[in-house]
Amino acid sequence: MDDCIFCRIVSGEAPSWKVYETETTYAFLDIHPASRYHALVIPKQHYTSMFDIPETVLQDVITTVKRVCKLYEEKLGIRDIQVISNSGAQAQQEVFHLHFHIVPRTYGDGQQLRWHTHPEWTRDFDAMLSKLHKD
Ligand code: 5GP
Ligand code: ZN
Repeated sequence: MDDCIFCRIVSGEAPSWKVYETETTYAFLDIHPASRYHALVIPKQHYTSMFDIPETVLQDVITTVKRVCKLYEEKLGIRDIQVISNSGAQAQQEVFHLHFHIVPRTYGDGQQLRWHTHPEWTRDFDAMLSKLHKD
């Protein structure tokens, strides 16, 4: 994928700051960090999102997510981390090569992730699930 920035990072055509690497995955610092050590974990092969990545490759990616968290804990004492992955434009995906954000968090870091919730929608749960489970 010549026009994919993350593929260009994997191939070395575009610069990056490596955090960790395996045969099939790569972790590097996000160029617009939300916090210090904000990293992205990607498969080295191009997959767009959660919808097209094979389970086996996703398992490798998640293993690397875990190892980066462990590395941060052991080397930096970090114990508070948000792991986020966006799939699809309406889900705020901007780079269409699957990735997980690893965002260390601290009190007073100025970040705030909050959804507007709809508790009243619980009354629709049975109808929602019957749609999901019908053949
Ligand atoms: P998304 O919104 O798709 O979940 O996140 C894409 C992330 O990729 C953003 O946080 C953005 O800062 C990061 N990003 C985009 N281009 C580059 C780049 O060239 N290098 C690095 N290191 N990160 C990038
Ligand atoms: Zn790519």
